[in-house]
Amino acid sequence: MMLLINQLTERSLLHWPTNNSVVTSNWGPRTLNGKPDFHKGVDIRAANGEPIYSVSGGKVISTKGYGNINQVFIRDDAGGVHGYANVGATVSVGDSVYPGQIIATSDGSGTSAAHLHYSYKPDGVNRVNPLNTVFKGMDYEFKN
Ligand SMILES: [Zn+2]
Repeated sequence: MMLLINQLTERSLLHWPTNNSVVTSNWGPRTLNGKPDFHKGVDIRAANGEPIYSVSGGKVISTKGYGNINQVFIRDDAGGVHGYANVGATVSVGDSVYPGQIIATSDGSGTSAAHLHYSYKPDGVNRVNPLNTVFKGMDYEFKN
């Protein structure tokens, strides 16, 4: 069967990735360690040990860390790549996952305040603002 390219517009196939809905750092320009930076994702509060849920269905393509940051990457059936950082994987490369499946545990790696850094590349290459795309219409609030 052919996959529909707009599969991700089907809201029922998407799941918010944490137990709460608090976005602590938005996409875009910010100051990080006193220097200008561009945040290519959103930070969502997730205490150490809390579960992280897959936003979409798909396949686990990487659990490789970056420096001291633990990560999981999942490719959805439309070719988009979902990145989850500061989390310890509970799935393995090649695993198939469904939306809302637990894929990791928040572990605070690479950060002083435990949170999920989530990024989204709808074309598999370029990161876009998740709040305007994959999370559009979902309930969340901004808090520091
Ligand atoms: Zn972040």
